[in-house]
Amino acid sequence: MDPAELLENFIKLFEDYKDNLKVLNYLIEHDMIHPSFEKRYILNNDDFPFTISDMIRKNDNVVEFYLEAASGCPYKGEVIFDGRWCLKSFRFQCQGCFGDDSLCNVCGSSGWGVL
Ligand SMILES: [Zn+2]
Repeated sequence: MDPAELLENFIKLFEDYKDNLKVLNYLIEHDMIHPSFEKRYILNNDDFPFTISDMIRKNDNVVEFYLEAASGCPYKGEVIFDGRWCLKSFRFQCQGCFGDDSLCNVCGSSGWGVL
């Protein structure tokens, strides 16, 4: 699976299952997520479905994806190569700063994640 296929399959899981726990179990069973993946972002997700709005290849081993949920909420996914392509992170934009504050205390200025 290349990074784009991996992410497309990932997005499709939400449409097929409409159940966060089932999505997560599928990802684990099929070895689609990295061990460092933060599962809480999927388990607390209530935005369906997603569309990919942009894809940025950072280097040979890292690809970033920008997604938009049906609600309009922006999400960011990171796919990395570690023996195979797998999902490293999947987070929504910080509700504290909306990615717009380099000194944000909520997200540590990453602009993404935090529940
Ligand atoms: Zn923030």
